[in-house]
Amino acid sequence: MTDSVPETSDNKFSQFGFSEGVMQGLESMGFETPTPIQSQIIPHVLEGRDVVGCAQTGTGKTAAYLLPILHRISQLHVDGINTIIISPTRELAVQIAQQLEGFSYFLNVSSLPIYGGTDGFEWEQQRKALINGVDVVVATPGKLISFLNMDIVPVKNLQHLVLDEADKMLDMGFVEDIMRIISYLPETKTTLFFSATMPPKIRDLTSRILKNPIEVNIAVSKPAEGILQVAYLVYDNQKTKLLSSLIKNRDLPSILIFTSKKVKAKSIAKDLAKEGFQVADIHSDLDQREREKVLLGFRNRQIQMLVATDVLSRGIDIENISLVVNYDVPRDAEDYVHRVGRTARAEQTGIAITFINDIEQQAFSSIEKLIGYEIRKQVPPEELGPAPEYNPSLRRSSGNSRFRRKPGARKGRK
Ligand code: AMP
Repeated sequence: MTDSVPETSDNKFSQFGFSEGVMQGLESMGFETPTPIQSQIIPHVLEGRDVVGCAQTGTGKTAAYLLPILHRISQLHVDGINTIIISPTRELAVQIAQQLEGFSYFLNVSSLPIYGGTDGFEWEQQRKALINGVDVVVATPGKLISFLNMDIVPVKNLQHLVLDEADKMLDMGFVEDIMRIISYLPETKTTLFFSATMPPKIRDLTSRILKNPIEVNIAVSKPAEGILQVAYLVYDNQKTKLLSSLIKNRDLPSILIFTSKKVKAKSIAKDLAKEGFQVADIHSDLDQREREKVLLGFRNRQIQMLVATDVLSRGIDIENISLVVNYDVPRDAEDYVHRVGRTARAEQTGIAITFINDIEQQAFSSIEKLIGYEIRKQVPPEELGPAPEYNPSLRRSSGNSRFRRKPGARKGRK
């Protein structure tokens, strides 16, 4: 978390003049002090300004837009839909909907999550709810478009449009969908735009869809300060044994392991299960119900370890993750920040360990450039064999993994 807003006694939610129901919701959620992004964004949303919020997940950005929107709805109900929140993934949509439900518990505000993968019965329920006009809709782009195309969504009085994780939407190819959705909405709405990164493509999008926005920047591309980050220099065939030795007999009830490919997620989970851990894998091969079941087991601590592809790295809010493991170095340096951001949520502390194999050293050094500091590198214990030497400036080919050097095969190296 950044320290740009000092936590003085007057940095309280009461400074915003929220309605009683919003304050009660905050109390029941246990929120006492606004995070920096909340302090900076809430007053502008209350004024009805367009906002660009550049903030990684874990900074409290969801409440930064939900709270003032709920306050405004509690002051002025409109006919039809008041607010549309668009999320790139179902998981994030579910997450937002859950926070929304918590904050609006004491308010007369209705909400409806709509995202893909639901059955015909649910679809019909959603269609009816939309026609009747709920206050807040949380949706993924594709599903929202299919309803908008049917011309049944009462959006003419829409007050707020929120685009959350906009950079992820761009990565997933949703820009056309977003522009299409906006074409159905009234010009008069307020637009709140959140993105963890601000590359030129995102800037271009903001200039197309926002009106004279206020821009708030919070610690972009830097992992939260409470995260202890460590890296290990390893060969691929040392990773599972190393992980097992690092976590055995330690009090780590909730471990999230990231890998970039779903086949790898499956095989890592299998290997860890063989080592005796309670482990599950989550990736795009699972349907929504299966994913939710796995996430629930992980949240409830029935599953100690979850092996995930990057589907999970953004936006998903699972509390108190004790350890995040990058089983491989993420290809996109920004993904590193998102992955390790799963631990140390909102002011807590956590640990993130990254395994760097012999061909990933250069990629890891790009991550260090992005975050602006070097991460301490360790080697596995001796019984696992020698570690690769550290030389990130050396270009190594990924080649065929069968022909990669094995521990002990030091031929050809300095
Ligand atoms: P977000 O960045 O919106 O995903 O929020 C990250 C986590 O911080 C979530 O678990 C929130 O419930 C929590 N959180 C957000 N704002 C606050 C706050 N002001 N006080 C305590 N926890 C918060």
